Amino acid sequence: MPDSLIRAILGEVSAENALRETTELAARVRYPESQSFFDAAEYVAGRARAYGLENVTVERFPSKHPLWDPLEAELDLVSPVSRRLSSLADVSVLLAQGSRDGDVTAPLVEESGEVRDKVVLTSKSPETAWRELSGQHPAALVCAFRPEYFGRQPPPDAVAWEQAPADALALMISPRQGDELRAMLHQGAVTVRVHARARRASPGEIGQVMGEIPGEAKGRDIVLAAHLDHQKPGANDNASGSGTLLEVLRTLKSLISTGKVPRPRRTLRFWWTTEIRSEEAYFHKHPEEAKQILMAVVLDQAGGDRDAVNNFIVINGPDWLPAFTDDLIYDLAEFVQDSYAPPEHEPSPMLVASGGSTQSMRTVYWDYQPLSDHLAFEARHTGIPAIALAVPSLHLIHTNLDTADRLDPTWLKRSALMTLAPALYMAGAGPKQAQALLEAVFHRAAARIAAAAEPERQLALEHKRLDSVAALDASIRTEDYQARLAAIAKALRR
Ligand SMILES: [Zn+2]
Repeated sequence: MPDSLIRAILGEVSAENALRETTELAARVRYPESQSFFDAAEYVAGRARAYGLENVTVERFPSKHPLWDPLEAELDLVSPVSRRLSSLADVSVLLAQGSRDGDVTAPLVEESGEVRDKVVLTSKSPETAWRELSGQHPAALVCAFRPEYFGRQPPPDAVAWEQAPADALALMISPRQGDELRAMLHQGAVTVRVHARARRASPGEIGQVMGEIPGEAKGRDIVLAAHLDHQKPGANDNASGSGTLLEVLRTLKSLISTGKVPRPRRTLRFWWTTEIRSEEAYFHKHPEEAKQILMAVVLDQAGGDRDAVNNFIVINGPDWLPAFTDDLIYDLAEFVQDSYAPPEHEPSPMLVASGGSTQSMRTVYWDYQPLSDHLAFEARHTGIPAIALAVPSLHLIHTNLDTADRLDPTWLKRSALMTLAPALYMAGAGPKQAQALLEAVFHRAAARIAAAAEPERQLALEHKRLDSVAALDASIRTEDYQARLAAIAKALRR
């Protein structure tokens, strides 16, 4: 990838604007089936149109769940003293998603005792607690649940975003609040009031914002996607990806209009999704569209945590879809890291945002895991190669502490670069770029075969991967490369 393209993007992209858009989205509740999701979607559609995206629509797909929007939720201590413990205004995940309405004043008990018509304090998730108490008819659940992602747990002050089981009235509090209530229970009787009211509408829907920058070459489009849904604030996951995608769009339009990059030959499609589900619904409704898409770049968590050392995560494609994408993003990430922010070196100012950290860029490549929107593109029956990118904050994810003030603008800038650069390169790729990509894929394919436990099996994968480059340009001939890879595999045979 030419350094001039990377410099052009870095010269234009504004981490400040990415953060501004992200902060606006993080202020909105964005549950998958909710009116407020569609309000956020209309907001994104409006911003995208203002930045020059064409044919912008909010697609809607049926869902079996009704729309659900929390209106009121409170947890009050009634006795031994009267005090507000939590409210929806302060903790937007207080009401477990999908909880039923209710207004209950009742004794608070631990789950080990008699729970009928009582409010049960538990450290389990609503789903687990409800299942274990089935048939015992508690009036409500108060869940001081501490989730875990990849072995990391959020701080004890974090309130987890959780789903309520059908027919359950469930509130979420932090583990620290749970400990305080448990200590009170050990002193004597405690009465609480649980209040919840939500708006429901049927039939439910999920949605996806879509638009494009049309190119001349048809049928080999590039999708740039970020999921817009989740709880409030959900700043890093994934207001950050959605807000950064808006800034990627603004950057691209500015670079085109000032002539710093040519107008892309291929169409670039921008999608703000309901994670995984809206793409699945889209390809189910329009199966022919999958063949029109050459590649997707998926951004889920763009900003990391300014109080932590962050890594740039790339998730490799699955074994059933060997493609050039793994090598394209590897080549770019290693080049950017070596040129602008090598490990433990002071990074180039170009790769740092004002107000952001000066961390090195550490790229970590994960084997395929079905974690985010990329799985909808890479599914066997869809078969679109995808680049999946993330700067995760796994100790804050899916809690009320995933706030916009904790995002690192430097990583927003880097995420914007790493999303736009491969998309723009592929959107403009002609015979010369396709040949360069073929060389890059070949060199890493040779190394992968040499290192493989089963070289013949790896050869079969690499054969398909070289063919995925040939799909880019009719002039590409892979026979020589295939023969050389076969010779390596043969030499390794015993
Ligand atoms: Zn996510």
